[in-house]
Amino acid sequence: MATIGFIGLGNMGGPMARNLIKAGHKLKVYDLRPEAVQYLAQAGAKACQSIREAASGMEFVVSMVPTGKESREVYLGPEGALAAAAKGTVLLDCSTIDVETARAVAKAASEAGFEMLDAPVSGGQMGAEAGTLTFMCGGSSATFAKARPILEGMGRTIVHAGGPGNGQAAKICNNMMAAINMIGTCEAFVLAEKLGLDKQVLFDIVSKSSGSSFQLTNYCPVPGPVPTTPANRGYQPGFAAKLMWKDLRLAQDAARQTGAATPMGAQAQALMALFANAGNADMDFSGIIQMIRGKA
Ligand code: NAD
Repeated sequence: MATIGFIGLGNMGGPMARNLIKAGHKLKVYDLRPEAVQYLAQAGAKACQSIREAASGMEFVVSMVPTGKESREVYLGPEGALAAAAKGTVLLDCSTIDVETARAVAKAASEAGFEMLDAPVSGGQMGAEAGTLTFMCGGSSATFAKARPILEGMGRTIVHAGGPGNGQAAKICNNMMAAINMIGTCEAFVLAEKLGLDKQVLFDIVSKSSGSSFQLTNYCPVPGPVPTTPANRGYQPGFAAKLMWKDLRLAQDAARQTGAATPMGAQAQALMALFANAGNADMDFSGIIQMIRGKA
């Protein structure tokens, strides 16, 4: 069993850290929010007051923070993990961030003598709770092999996507598809409402037909057909609209840099921007169905 410094204990990091404790690992934890740290301390982790304290003397550092800005703080800051970690510590950034930052942080880590993976996840808060996340990893094969047993404590599917940054590349492609699928699913439910077609009947038919998707069957944007989804709790996240919007911006940045044509991704980004900026940034991204109804 390993010693792990875990930084960032939010909707995703909190349950991921709890699953590592359940798997028998010894954790030191830190978050800017003391209540999140206390919650993990009650589950058996050692509470820390800083990134430095959580990262020092551990075999692994795992981070789960919102954006590239916070990832840079966690790893490159004067009190960050590169300054604090012991020689041989393996660094795993599970946050969803831009490919450029992921590659810059990995380069700095390598120059400081550390092995690092970008290891963003898919599966949402429900997958984090259940320990069934998918990890998409960028870095060397040797580092991937070392990290795999740790990642298996939090996920079910662990994939090596290639060199540094390639985990993030896979993640932004996935989320662009997820947002496009979700918005299409929302449009279909609103059209069905206007046509007088019952939502459960639509769900039963489409979930067995060519319009089906993960967004429909696991993340259904109307209450009822899938009782665990955010739609059943007033669109409390789940996956906040501001985070999906961030991922769609990352995809558009990457499309511009590479010249890839992504017109549907661009449209999804614009719609998520409208929804988030209308006071819904902290609502689950599937709540965009309210805006499509003309009610958000
Ligand atoms: P969150 O906002 O719930 O949690 C982020 C946590 O990081 C917060 O508790 C915050 O206090 C902490 N934090 C921020 N800066 C910090 C710092 N400098 N030091 C220590 N702690 C710091 O966000 P989340 O939903 O857990 O998402 C985290 C990452 O996972 C994001 O990159 C997101 O895009 C990605 N992600 C989220 C989901 C989801 O369904 N929520 C799914 C897949 C991927």
